[in-house]
Amino acid sequence: MSSMSRIPGDANLFVGGLWILNIESYRNHLYDNNITHVLSLIKWSFDKWSEEGKRFKHMSIDIDDLEESDLLSHLPAAVRFIDSGLYPPQSVADGTKSSDNTPTTAQDGATSPPPSPGGVYVHCVMGKSRSVSCVVAYLLYKYPHRFGGRPFVPSAAATSQRRETAKEAVQKALDCVREVRSHAEPNDGFMEQLELWWEMGCPAEDDGAVERHPTYQKWLYDRMLKDARDMHMAPEADHIRFGDEVDQPTTAGGGPEAQEQGGNEVRCKKCRRMLATPKFLVPHAPVGEAQSGHCAHIFIDTLSWMRPMLEDGALDGRLICPNSKCGATVGRFAWQGLKCSCREWVVPAFSLNRSRVDEVAPRPDGGGRRGVSGQSGNL
Ligand SMILES: [Zn+2]
Ligand SMILES: [Zn+2]
Repeated sequence: MSSMSRIPGDANLFVGGLWILNIESYRNHLYDNNITHVLSLIKWSFDKWSEEGKRFKHMSIDIDDLEESDLLSHLPAAVRFIDSGLYPPQSVADGTKSSDNTPTTAQDGATSPPPSPGGVYVHCVMGKSRSVSCVVAYLLYKYPHRFGGRPFVPSAAATSQRRETAKEAVQKALDCVREVRSHAEPNDGFMEQLELWWEMGCPAEDDGAVERHPTYQKWLYDRMLKDARDMHMAPEADHIRFGDEVDQPTTAGGGPEAQEQGGNEVRCKKCRRMLATPKFLVPHAPVGEAQSGHCAHIFIDTLSWMRPMLEDGALDGRLICPNSKCGATVGRFAWQGLKCSCREWVVPAFSLNRSRVDEVAPRPDGGGRRGVSGQSGNL
């Protein structure tokens, strides 16, 4: 096994472990390979190298090799740093804007610009999980066509197509690293995050591109809910996301299929108040089965009319029709989840009892509904 592995392709991109940097006699590997930029996926610095360390541009991302570590939010800065190392601005003749911004966390020690073409060394401790994940993220970002994708234009169809191909794309990019580093193996949590990275279209126009993305925010929220479940607690009231109040990632709830399949609106049987429009229905059974007729429950997204029932932090309880003149019990919620009559678990569960609601086809023009109280709003 070589200590640092060159990723197949034209770019001078290397991945490996820490000892190249920690053992003095190994340093020549960096010079031999024309390395100008070092990306550390551990807390590390060139301090001990004194003047010699200033030859390198360096970025350090302090992250543990744990499935639950949030690698995703660091990926834009990481791929931008790698790109700026491989293709320094002055070597970019066609004026592409790939590297005209120096990442803010990079040390600006070098007095002269790095030679072109640059060389980048991405490392963690073993060169197995963290550093490999970053290199895979870069390959997916830089060469989407190699992994079955095209340059990403945000749209529901593109996201849906990306979601279907994510596993395969990430695996192909990892296989590319494994050609030169057979023990490369990102942990399972990182693999899942790389799939989301692909699904989002590898957004890296600035360092905050992932953190702003609805898919990332939904992912963070789901993690928070899981943490709360593990502690047998309800999420804090301030942190609850109501589906009708947030930017929906196209992955939310039942996904675009659910939004396009033209399901029914669900209304309170007693007063006809709107409880959920089709896009907030959460499918839970295999498509075509139980779902349509036989289930005792209709599961829906967390919606703002539930706020009064959720804000006291109960783990479960009744869902009551928000029409104050009605007040009928229409279902239940349970942060820990509920088992439907079809035996499927839904977690967390916001369930309307089929016998307490009416399911009606939405009117095609979406407006002029009769018999709905004025407060139904845009639900
Ligand atoms: Zn009602
Ligand atoms: Zn069911």
